[in-house]
Amino acid sequence: MDAADMGRDLSNVLISEDELQTKIKELAGQIDADYAGKDLLIVGVLKGAVMIMADLARALHIPVQMDWMAVSSYGAGTKSSGVVRVLKDLDTDIANRHVLVVEDIIDSGLTLSWLLNNLQSRNPASAEICALLRKPDAVKVPIDVKYVGFDIPSEFVIGYGLDYAERYRNLPFIGTLAPHVYGGE
Ligand code: 5GP
Ligand code: MG
Ligand code: MG
Repeated sequence: MDAADMGRDLSNVLISEDELQTKIKELAGQIDADYAGKDLLIVGVLKGAVMIMADLARALHIPVQMDWMAVSSYGAGTKSSGVVRVLKDLDTDIANRHVLVVEDIIDSGLTLSWLLNNLQSRNPASAEICALLRKPDAVKVPIDVKYVGFDIPSEFVIGYGLDYAERYRNLPFIGTLAPHVYGGE
């Protein structure tokens, strides 16, 4: 796909590269302050969180370790079922560690809610969440998200780690897709 094709697939740039990078520096500043003097493990949820993990980690001034989990939500269609399968677990023992889970987006919140319970059962010193994006439905789930980049409308977004059928993850901004990409028109 060349740039012109990519351009036709996009309907709108929702959050520009500059806005993303500014917000990530702001989040990093808060995390630096909150975890000063503590030993922090940041956990990226594959694959969507790769971009925010890479940029956030470089914007932090405190020393951190990085680990990754891959999870998949069972259930047909595009909505989470809340039943989660671990495809790749942490390499790290998190008992007595401060853990910050880094996610691309919270929609229903079911995936993160399950993940947080799973991590909490391993007795970390603390377990918190940093999500780049949050959709309105997330308010229905009783999970406390300590750091949020942007609250966005209930639209399907792509770019900066987020995919549609494994494409568009490499875009440096967050956008919405043109309807023809979904098979319409
Ligand atoms: P939840 O369990 O919160 O409903 O879903 C979380 C996961 O669904 C996210 O980590 C992401 O992989 C996927 N997801 C939710 N909304 C979107 C979206 O607007 N665009 C993309 N590309 N993925 C989404
Ligand atoms: Mg994700
Ligand atoms: Mg996806």
